[in-house]
Amino acid sequence: MTAERTSLEASAWPPLREELRGIAPYGAPQLDVPVQLNVNENPYGPSAEVVADIAASVAEAAVDLNRYPDREFTDLRTALADYLNTDGGLGLTADQLWAANGSNEVMLQLLQAFGGPGRTALSFAPTYSMYPEYARDAMTNWVVGRRETDFSLDLDAARELIREHRPHVVLLPSPNNPTGTALPPEAVSMLCEAAATDDHSGIVVVDEAYGEFRRAGTPSALELLPQHRNLVVSRTMSKAFALAGARLGYFAASPEICNAVRVVRLPYHLSAVTQATALAALRHAPELLGRVDDLRRERDETVGWLREQGLRVAETDANFALFGTFEDRHAVWQGLLDRGVLIRETGPDGWLRVSIGTPGEMTTFKNALTEVMKAGS
Ligand SMILES: *Cc1c(COP(=O)(O)O)cnc(C)c1O
Repeated sequence: MTAERTSLEASAWPPLREELRGIAPYGAPQLDVPVQLNVNENPYGPSAEVVADIAASVAEAAVDLNRYPDREFTDLRTALADYLNTDGGLGLTADQLWAANGSNEVMLQLLQAFGGPGRTALSFAPTYSMYPEYARDAMTNWVVGRRETDFSLDLDAARELIREHRPHVVLLPSPNNPTGTALPPEAVSMLCEAAATDDHSGIVVVDEAYGEFRRAGTPSALELLPQHRNLVVSRTMSKAFALAGARLGYFAASPEICNAVRVVRLPYHLSAVTQATALAALRHAPELLGRVDDLRRERDETVGWLREQGLRVAETDANFALFGTFEDRHAVWQGLLDRGVLIRETGPDGWLRVSIGTPGEMTTFKNALTEVMKAGS
């Protein structure tokens, strides 16, 4: 037995955790292609004025780079609270805000604090492909239910699954990635109530990475924070704010939840450069978010066009559309790539996801897809 273990361990190099062996790292392809519509980035870069303000703010921060940054990033938390109060937040204050290097890090911190060995995180597929990886990295059991064929949530089935597994963390994007589906407020409230019973407390994380792209009349889960102390609503500056390169994600929740996450964060996890960049960008929120309306229009236009081609398109409140279905989706994806258009092969079998780009990029996409579909018929 001992000999066997020794030989097994000797053959494994590097000596990785068993469950990580042979796993490929996250990788949406980063290909050098003229039209990149694969990772839901905002196609509009910051204006010269915003770039200049970010550069000046970073220069100012650079003077003190011999010192560690403000560990509690109080100015940034205040600015994020003020911003959220313009988009669904109800009187949020700095002690209800938390931030990290992208909402990916925020999610990992939440799982480190509230998940862990012997605990369970739960979601409903199709969902964000990174969630099971965060759960694995935080050594948290992963349970996944199914969405309906229209990608909505069957509330009775969801309640039942939560009752059965008693998750400590329920993770749900709204709008959902990769489908674009937003969760109605009744669903969020039901999940919060189901996750916290007399003898069990779980938190519900609504990942609003695409929140700003929601259609008029679709509420944000931020509005429900006063009613549910176990609700966490996360956002990111990567998508609507056109700041994916800066890495800033954040959440709003009760002060107790924010405090709990402080225990697991690495010391000084948000660099002074990151804080200065995010603060500068928030000062220009109206400009950076000004393009969101254009993108929402372009999205609705794209959905309409895809449907006119006889394709199915999932209802979307995000800056992307999931469409199909194709017998050989890989061939369609490849055909588009051959024509200089990179989209994402993701979601259930037969579906493809396209991020919304500039009008010019969407015209190239449509022309390429028309050609590919003609060639295939
Ligand atoms: C893009 C995305 C994020 C954002 O991740 P960052 O780390 O903030 O760039 C979070 N959640 C979902 C579902 C996403 O699609």
